[in-house]
Amino acid sequence: MFLTLKKKTVIIIVAAVLCAASFFAAIGFASAKADSGRANGMVVVVDAGHGGIDGGVVGSATGVKESDINLAVARSLKHFLTSKGYQVVMTRNTTDGLYGMSTKNRKIRDMEARRKIIVDAKPDMVVSIHQNSYPRAAQSGAQVFYALNSEPGRAAAETVQSVVNANLDSGRAAAAGDYYILRCSEYTSLIVECGFLTNPVEERLLISAPYQEKVAYTIFTGIHTVLSGR
Ligand SMILES: [Zn+2]
Repeated sequence: MFLTLKKKTVIIIVAAVLCAASFFAAIGFASAKADSGRANGMVVVVDAGHGGIDGGVVGSATGVKESDINLAVARSLKHFLTSKGYQVVMTRNTTDGLYGMSTKNRKIRDMEARRKIIVDAKPDMVVSIHQNSYPRAAQSGAQVFYALNSEPGRAAAETVQSVVNANLDSGRAAAAGDYYILRCSEYTSLIVECGFLTNPVEERLLISAPYQEKVAYTIFTGIHTVLSGR
């Protein structure tokens, strides 16, 4: 009886050890899979424009807030970049702005907080996500902006714009723009205006999750083309 029990115990212990081994092997396998986007040593700051009381442009057909679309595209862009090994620093991860509690000078404090995140991250590139507006509803198409007098910015913007034009049916050209987020740091910075919320057709596209993902994947492809070619 004693011997039998002992045998059983041994069998149980062996079974438990085998179980544990396969469990840890499975965990190892899972983490190896998660690592498939091995760190490539490059950092991208993804800035979802606006947030909090600053909703940005309002959709003419649905009343959607630009800030919400920006965040959805930014999150999706982070996913694609991370899976390719980039370290991504988001300026905001929620619908809140970056201006804190005080109600004074919100916009200035919001922008200063973004600048600090960028400077601290020392990124290889900054990409700020926005949606456009125009008085005439017919205006459409995604467009990439770079800092005035920035040669690396111009080159990067033109590469990303060419991917945007091929993937998102836009016929626009990259353009220089005098925007704070582009000139607040020494790092190569782009603004991607993903489309016009004043164009009801484009607005319908921009509020849909599959199109937001398509936009994000397009921007990712453009960024990766620029950074992998360096
Ligand atoms: Zn905006």
